[in-house]
Amino acid sequence: MDNVFSLNVVTPNGSVYEREDVVLAVLKTTAGELGVMKGHIPTVAALNMGYVKVSLDNGSEYLAVSDGFVEIRQQKVSIIVQTAEPANEIDVARAELAKSRAESHLNSDDENSDIERAKRALARANNRIRVANLV
Ligand code: ATP
Repeated sequence: MDNVFSLNVVTPNGSVYEREDVVLAVLKTTAGELGVMKGHIPTVAALNMGYVKVSLDNGSEYLAVSDGFVEIRQQKVSIIVQTAEPANEIDVARAELAKSRAESHLNSDDENSDIERAKRALARANNRIRVANLV
C-alpha cells in the first residue's frame, strides 16, 4: 500500500511497539491533538501523557503513553516516551493497585510523603485505566 508509514515507540526498555502499516496516528501533543498521515511535514513535538491511537487498514489500536516526544519524518514516526503499553497489554488490576497506593499517599498527613511523586503515579495509573477501557 502506498498510503502507509511506519511507527515506532521507544522507551528506556527499548522498542515496545513497531508497525510498518499505519494509516493514521493520533497523538496528544502539548499544543493539542495531532493527526499524522504519510507525508506529514517533518516535525518534532512534545507529548502529554495520554493515548496514541494507531489506525491500520483493518481497525485501530491504542497505546497508553507517558510524557515524551514525537519525531515525524516523511515515512516514519518515532515516539520517545518513558513508558508505553498497548491497551490490550495493560494490567488493570496492577494499575488499580498503583492508584490506591498513590491515593493513600495523597491522603496521608505524613510530612515525608512525596506529594508530587504520588500525583504523578496517580496520573499514570488513571491514564492506564482509561486507555485499557478504550479497547
Ligand atoms: P507500578 O507501581 O504498578 O509499577 P508505575 O506507574 O510506577 O506502576 P512505571 O514506573 O510507570 O510504573 O512503569 C514501569 C514499567 O512497568 C514500564 O515498563 C511500564 O510499561 C510497566 N507498567 C506499569 N504499569 C503497568 C500496567 N498496569 N500494565 C502493564 N504494564 C505496566
